[in-house]
Amino acid sequence: MSVSLVGILKSFKQTIKRLFSKPVTVHYPEETAPISERFRGRIVLDMEACIGCTLCSQACPNGTDCMQVIPGREQANNKRGLWPRVNVVQCMYCGLCEEVCPTDAIFLTPEFRTSRTDRGEFDYDAIQLSKTEAELTMEGQKELEGGL
Ligand code: SF4
Ligand code: SF4
Repeated sequence: MSVSLVGILKSFKQTIKRLFSKPVTVHYPEETAPISERFRGRIVLDMEACIGCTLCSQACPNGTDCMQVIPGREQANNKRGLWPRVNVVQCMYCGLCEEVCPTDAIFLTPEFRTSRTDRGEFDYDAIQLSKTEAELTMEGQKELEGGL
């Protein structure tokens, strides 16, 4: 089997070039790579703005966004206490719920770090949707420490 010297030299040239160029990787999680302006990540709900109209749930193509009554969480602009509930791992981040919402209460954010140890924890009710991932992680840690 003959090996092309030209091919070897080309590969060698690429290797040398890479040695002196800026790395394309970052030290995650201390650093993160730039996120596109149009990136669609974890859904957030502004509970004060949500009127419980169900439009987001009706627009959701795969039934990820379901409506749920949360007893005791009725408010002046949401008298039935009816709120969206989203399973963030079933969600395909299409953004249709955000598009149809008449009050801009539900929207997608650049957050992509949603890690849990239990599958059931990915099903977020309105209260969880209204919090950031950092807040939810902090609450989870406190619960864990309390149980030890
Ligand atoms: S982003 Fe799309 S899939 Fe996800 S909850 Fe909204 S409508 Fe449903
Ligand atoms: S999030 Fe928007 S579309 Fe969904 S129930 Fe609330 S107000 Fe209606």
